[in-house]
Amino acid sequence: MADIELRSRLPGVGTTIFTIMSEAARKCGALNLSQGYPAFDPPDELRELVALSIRKGRNQYAPMAGVPELTEAIAGRTAVRDRRRVDPVNEVTVTAGATEGLFCAIQAFVGPGDEAVLLDPAYDAYAPAVTLAGARPRHVAMDYDPARSHFSVDWSKLEQSIGERTRLLVVNFPHNPTGALLDAEDLDRLAAILRDSPALLLADEVYEHIVFDGRQHRSVLTHDELWERSCVVSSFGKSLHATGWKIGYCVAPARLSAELRKVHQFTTFAVSTPMQYAIAEYLERNPDFAEQLAGFYQEKRDRFLDGLRDSRFRWSPAASTFFQLLDYSAVSAEADERLALSWTGNPGVASIPVSVFSKDAFAPRLLRFCFAKDDATLDEAARRLSAL
Ligand code: PMP
Ligand code: GLN
Repeated sequence: MADIELRSRLPGVGTTIFTIMSEAARKCGALNLSQGYPAFDPPDELRELVALSIRKGRNQYAPMAGVPELTEAIAGRTAVRDRRRVDPVNEVTVTAGATEGLFCAIQAFVGPGDEAVLLDPAYDAYAPAVTLAGARPRHVAMDYDPARSHFSVDWSKLEQSIGERTRLLVVNFPHNPTGALLDAEDLDRLAAILRDSPALLLADEVYEHIVFDGRQHRSVLTHDELWERSCVVSSFGKSLHATGWKIGYCVAPARLSAELRKVHQFTTFAVSTPMQYAIAEYLERNPDFAEQLAGFYQEKRDRFLDGLRDSRFRWSPAASTFFQLLDYSAVSAEADERLALSWTGNPGVASIPVSVFSKDAFAPRLLRFCFAKDDATLDEAARRLSAL
């Protein structure tokens, strides 16, 4: 057995930074503001509905694309929120978290010889999925303005990166880890960039509801031209405080959904039946379920930043997501990966180094802190960081 040569399909890939940092936090007993998950449970009513679904005997395989009650609820929401009428039977697919949706879309849409363009800093799941599909990830760095601690898309650089081989562009707005957003004009720019290209668009919008200070998230679903070539991925993990349930979904035109489902049916086939019924019922009873989220998280963000007001960190308040970037250049000259590990031990606050989301050298000195935590944890984390 020891002699068998293994040919890794992902030779450059190690353990994800989220696992590394959460594990380090656990070992050190640190406040864990690294891996992004809420410290709150899903609503009681929803938890009861899960128990009820199980008791009602909804325990066998769900239909491959999702239980109709849930796909209809998702289609109902896109009609109201994004003014996009989609067919719940052929254009909505429920997946095991956004992660499975992203993976299936990438396997479905790119192959050997193709390129997929990613915007760095990029969520860590995209590039390995592209590599597994046999395609090449092409990384395009977002612009960073250190004076404003602000990231934005360099549209001309993005345009130049779309070549003959590009079959997919992956975008993630609201953006993890920077909180950047796209507005209606940006969607027009994207459409113009893709107009003469055969590339599809994969839009990861899992933080769609968590947008602050009166700003708006503009879904790719709202754009007629982009919609024709897009697969939009989201997740109930973020909007229902249920990251551990791994229930997400993809909305895409029927032709694209059909290809995505060919992969999905052999990846998981279907996802948890009682959870799907429970979420569908909950959405029907609480159509405004996500309306409180932005205000709830904005207060968390503000509380955390208020606690840091006398610290030596610099920041601009996150425009979206439940992550705050802090520029630590006035505190330490250490590289972010080492610093994140060292600060997990002392002062005992775990964070995520931002450079790991970029392929090329990344100059900014930034750490990402998840503020989806209870107030006492945020206060204590801010206190410890302020002492640095
Ligand atoms: N995309 C982004 C940008 C994320 O931050 C996450 C997880 N927080 C996911 C996808 C994965 O979502 P899920 O847990 O539903 O698989
Ligand atoms: N998406 C979460 C984050 O950004 C982590 C998910 C994971 O651990 N894979 O922190």
